Amino acid sequence: MRIYLLKTPEFSEEQFQNVYNFLKTFKGPLKFSKINLDFDKEKFPFLFYPYINTDYKSDGKKGNFKQEIGTILRWKEIFSLSTYYRDTVKINKNDFVIVLTDRRNELNWFSKFDEKRNIFVHTSDWDAFTNANPKYPIAYQIVENVMQFLMKLESQSPYNPYIHFQPTGCMNDFCQNKQEVILKLQNANICETCIAKIRHENIDDKIVQQVFKIFDGVRNELVYKNRTIEQNADIKLAITVTKKNEIFIGNLEIRLTPLRKTLYLFFLENKLINNHGILFNDLGDFKIELMNIYRKLAVEGEMDILKTRINALVNPVEDRFSQEKSRINSIISDTLGKNIAKDYILSGGRNEPSKINISNDLIKFQQ
Ligand SMILES: [Zn+2]
Repeated sequence: MRIYLLKTPEFSEEQFQNVYNFLKTFKGPLKFSKINLDFDKEKFPFLFYPYINTDYKSDGKKGNFKQEIGTILRWKEIFSLSTYYRDTVKINKNDFVIVLTDRRNELNWFSKFDEKRNIFVHTSDWDAFTNANPKYPIAYQIVENVMQFLMKLESQSPYNPYIHFQPTGCMNDFCQNKQEVILKLQNANICETCIAKIRHENIDDKIVQQVFKIFDGVRNELVYKNRTIEQNADIKLAITVTKKNEIFIGNLEIRLTPLRKTLYLFFLENKLINNHGILFNDLGDFKIELMNIYRKLAVEGEMDILKTRINALVNPVEDRFSQEKSRINSIISDTLGKNIAKDYILSGGRNEPSKINISNDLIKFQQ
């Protein structure tokens, strides 16, 4: 399956090349081609002259034009470019044609696909949200739209059960702003509901694997290299513990083993009672509390085994606690990026109380 990349004239050739170079490093059934197509001024005047009128009608109910955000391309104008390429070159109808454009579009969407495998991705304004090169979010959006087409998310509307208006960290989260998109990219995930839909539509496993590799590649750039900008440090995300004891920070799930989750939940619950944190040496006083949480979370194991593990955790001779604490903290940092993570990790050095620093009003237990 070939994915042809086109660009509108103002999108820089250098960045166009960057996006292509990144995508083509991931081998699999999705083959990317960079097309250097000079659009004709006569045929496509809206690409060259501001405020020009075209015969393309804006999609009535969606056409909220806003002068203050500049010259806006209509969705139909953008898709006319991919249709033009498709018709001129007579490509296979199963192939995708992507238009990359810095120009804003009528509803200011970040990307969109149509019913004929045409896609556009808005390429500008990413700098304010991440220090990572915008080629990564752009590449993600290309692949996201290909997947959404293949899994038949025909309409990107609120009535589609696979579009999540409550963010879940899934590819199909409907993001209202680019900051939310960045968090989605950092999560690099497709939720179980959407994976079931992918299976239902019989999408080639190799495509799914390739897509996950690309998502991981994007995530590595955004999270592990910690290039999220300082501005992110000011964002205060709520910690939510669901009825099923899943831990979400913002919309990102922090996935921990039952024992680590026990520790984290214990510190979270304890913080609401005592905001000073707990010294490791005092942790042994809380064996019953720890055990009560662990029993709810552990999927298997006799009581004796669970007790042994909790005893080992609080035992000052063994060093289980500091090992588990540092693993929990690195998982949180990997998920959120270091800047944001610092208020959510278990802080405190070896002889200091361990505590989670986020303010209590941002902690929510959904039970
Ligand atoms: Zn989903």
